[in-house]
Amino acid sequence: MLRIAIQTKGRLNEESLNMLNEIDINVDSAKRKFLSKASNFPTEILYLRDDDIPGVVANGTAHLGIVGLNEVEEKNCDVEIVARLGFGGCRISLAIPKDHEYEGVEYFNGKRIATSYPVILEKFLKENNVNAKIEVITGSVEIAPAAGIADAIFDIVSSGGTLVSNGLKEVERVFESEAVLIANRNLSTEEKELLDEILFRIESDRISSRKKYLLMNIPQKSLEEALRILPAMRSPTVMPLADKEWYSLHSVVSSDELWDKVKQLKAIGAEGILVLSLDKIIL
Ligand code: ATP
Ligand code: MG
Repeated sequence: MLRIAIQTKGRLNEESLNMLNEIDINVDSAKRKFLSKASNFPTEILYLRDDDIPGVVANGTAHLGIVGLNEVEEKNCDVEIVARLGFGGCRISLAIPKDHEYEGVEYFNGKRIATSYPVILEKFLKENNVNAKIEVITGSVEIAPAAGIADAIFDIVSSGGTLVSNGLKEVERVFESEAVLIANRNLSTEEKELLDEILFRIESDRISSRKKYLLMNIPQKSLEEALRILPAMRSPTVMPLADKEWYSLHSVVSSDELWDKVKQLKAIGAEGILVLSLDKIIL
């Protein structure tokens, strides 16, 4: 049985549960308790504050965890980052009052910087030979300059709207974060096998979400050209139609190329084009 720690509530909770459901680990979020078992995979979910997730995975209370890379870095815990999950994207940045001139990190010498991420900030200041005072506050960091608690802040930014509404501007992007899957470093062979199964499913899900299944009818005279336009995993499936002049062509294309391919295929006479989403691609 693998125990996976996820955030109880907050920005990563819903997407963590969605991700587990996408890879067919069914967790009933309505029946959420401190600990709940998945119905169809040997896992149980442990609900925690995100601050506590790196620690419980490092000490083995949970085998896996889903948490922001920023928390992993800040808590400085010895865990393995086994997958980047593509949600919860944000950055931690330095911001100063918007009417101040800024010419480089030297600006921060002698300044007080408010943050909930003292470890990441201290590392950055050290690397840049800046001597500043770190004021640790949890929550509402962005009001610290106006409240006179600090001269600048080091905080999470996603759109930047919160900074603007507090009269601040972002001057250094220090740390890029997204949600990651972390694992304890001492998993048993059986636990590693379960983790591999989870990673395999995540990868299948990821590949399928970037691809579309494309079906169309193509006149015989354009068939060769269509095959040139549409390389598939091996090659496109071609099926003759009752009408000898036409074929049905099926293929998988990457979402980025979809509209370009559709345009080219229409130009050579493709008709009845259908685009379908793929649930999973197993390689
Ligand atoms: P908890 O109660 O679990 O301690 P929290 O208040 O510390 O929650 P949230 O605000 O729910 O944390 O954010 C969780 C994570 O979501 C952050 O650590 C970060 O990785 C990510 N995140 C993505 N975008 C943002 C954003 N705009 N603001 C804050 N966090 C964000
Ligand atoms: Mg937290």
